Amino acid sequence: MDISPKNRFELLKSAYNENMNGNMQVLSTAPQYAPVAESLQTDSSVIPTHFYNPQYKNPQLMQLAEFVGGCGAGRFYMGIEPNRDLYPCVFFPRTEELKLGNLMNDDFDQIWTENNLLVDLKNKDLLQDNCGSCESKNICGGCRARAYTYFNDVQAPDPGCIKNEGKWNELKNKLPNFQETHNGSLFINLEGK
Ligand code: SF4
Repeated sequence: MDISPKNRFELLKSAYNENMNGNMQVLSTAPQYAPVAESLQTDSSVIPTHFYNPQYKNPQLMQLAEFVGGCGAGRFYMGIEPNRDLYPCVFFPRTEELKLGNLMNDDFDQIWTENNLLVDLKNKDLLQDNCGSCESKNICGGCRARAYTYFNDVQAPDPGCIKNEGKWNELKNKLPNFQETHNGSLFINLEGK
């Protein structure tokens, strides 16, 4: 299931408002959290990435957030399977094409620094379409796993973003196996894409 760009935008706005005005502290794995927060901020308390709130005052988290800046897949973290297979992040499909190696057989440092897919993911200049020209790409960059899952391309625009709503609507016309809910979310069978 995937929620619509509009629903995601409204959800992230609520998360920001709860963080700033309520008693809750909300973290999100959505890279769009940073640009949404930036657009809503009323003072200099910018949330520079999707899992950091400056009010938390945690030095390690602050350092992490400033370094990562948006989607961290293959840039700041990887996903490790129980069998030690490595993927760019936990949300990427488990395909041979995306498998980076295995911790039992391969050199971690070499994968991290030399693997072509990771080298590309670390280069935001390669982002395409709206994500490539977006003024927020350094604090967001879109979910690379979602972009790949829909477009078979890690540099494609993230169709989960409100700025890419046109791509989302295009996809709805192309995907053969989906059901749309009353609020615009989709149930999708990606095996048939
Ligand atoms: S267009 Fe891409 S980089 Fe810009 S806010 Fe949307 S997902 Fe992030």
